Amino acid sequence: MLTSREEGHNPYSSAHNLDGELGMVARTFIPQGGVILVEHPVIVVPADMEVDASVVGLDEAGSQSELYGALFSRLDSQMRKEVLALKDCSASPNAFTTRGIFNTNALDVRLEVDNRRKFQAKVQEQKYKALFLKTSRCNHSCGPNAVWRFDRLSFTLTLSAVRAIHPGEEITISYINPFLPRHTRRTQLQSEWNFVCHCTHCDAPWTFPSAISQSDKARYELSTFFKKLPDWEQWCFDENNEQFMIERHLRAMQMREKEGLEGFQDGTGSEIVAYMKHIDALVMCYGALADVQGFTKWVRKAREVKLAEGPDNALHVKVLDLWLKEPRKFYVWGWKRL
Ligand SMILES: [Zn+2]
Repeated sequence: MLTSREEGHNPYSSAHNLDGELGMVARTFIPQGGVILVEHPVIVVPADMEVDASVVGLDEAGSQSELYGALFSRLDSQMRKEVLALKDCSASPNAFTTRGIFNTNALDVRLEVDNRRKFQAKVQEQKYKALFLKTSRCNHSCGPNAVWRFDRLSFTLTLSAVRAIHPGEEITISYINPFLPRHTRRTQLQSEWNFVCHCTHCDAPWTFPSAISQSDKARYELSTFFKKLPDWEQWCFDENNEQFMIERHLRAMQMREKEGLEGFQDGTGSEIVAYMKHIDALVMCYGALADVQGFTKWVRKAREVKLAEGPDNALHVKVLDLWLKEPRKFYVWGWKRL
């Protein structure tokens, strides 16, 4: 971290990382689940086609860069300046194009299609590419400490921490499906973003070659964890295997911590972050076992994350408080002891 600007109340600032790349760095402690930023997109275009010339008043012959240039020109001057300062990974720093900037930084989002298209094409939603000014500053890691999700109704992106982030630490997201093996991840990042990934997860294995295959195996196992997980009720009414379900979740959580994959369920862009699913499952298991100590520990953890996520969870926190006070009020309390 060399320089920083954008002080104020934000928990992050724009700064250079150890590789000299401009990125986003935490200014204050951000707890697991904590919201880093919320923002609207500045440009949104359908993902399956380049910008339609007629939309921006150009004839068909207009080059794609001109089309993006026309879209960029509609932004107010401050915003345009910030957009033009973003990286174009397909060109050298002085030869960027607006199209290159857009394609380097835009994120895939899904929006509901209009009623006519719903009827004609029988599709409910369509993929778009959206450019977000602040989130665009996040660099990639194969074990990122933040995830973003886009809410169609409020048309906003929320970036939040999937594990505690300390001041001075770089805030990262994953540009690709992080469950892919190291070789595939690096190839994809190289071909689409023109860089060789040197994140801690890609570089660390060099000191211990079999760690590469171990990491690839762990990532694959995590990507199918919830699909392969036995049914909770079946576990609950099985007289044996008391600790089985708990051990599965604890092991997966450990693997996620090691691989930096707390924020991803299975690589399909699911909305629910994985660590919360494990925490909820552990609350259920210890509750069913009527184990006050285990139950209290994981309800406290759930409460901590829900509080960090923001004021929308007030009701949820109240319910957790009630369970902490009176575990027997938990809706499946002691079920496995019946
Ligand atoms: Zn990597």
